[in-house]
Amino acid sequence: MELSRQQYRLIKKVLEQIYQYCGTYDPFLISKNLNINVSVIPLKGLSGISDISPTGHATIYLSSALNSYAKKIVCAHELGHIFLHRNTELNLFTVDGNKNSLTEYEANIFALELLPHIKPINYFQYSKEELQSYIEKKVFSNIYTLTEQINDNA
Ligand SMILES: [Zn+2]
Repeated sequence: MELSRQQYRLIKKVLEQIYQYCGTYDPFLISKNLNINVSVIPLKGLSGISDISPTGHATIYLSSALNSYAKKIVCAHELGHIFLHRNTELNLFTVDGNKNSLTEYEANIFALELLPHIKPINYFQYSKEELQSYIEKKVFSNIYTLTEQINDNA
């Protein structure tokens, strides 16, 4: 894992505190419980954005092109930025995002710990880039599935 033991422990601790407070690992319910606004809007070339206002209020924007499964993954990733990278005001989930960025890697780890059913078994062995590709595949394969379904119905 390209994260120090200490950094990983911090993520686990944050997740534990969230669970204690919210009683759930569902990213949408966590957002609701913690007063994080989640808006679904058309986003060109982006899956999600998290934004923290100068007053400290957090908002997650999710692309309306995503289906509910993909929205959940991106919401979990954006929650990771909100809890781990509060000092950065704007975080973008992009396809061409910096695959070697530590903050993206941490947000991906956070998302996978929050959604253990999509966590690859040996994900500690994944590089930053491999993990980013894995998450993107999870998010975007669902768009294709949805598009195929729409085409089938046409
Ligand atoms: Zn991100």
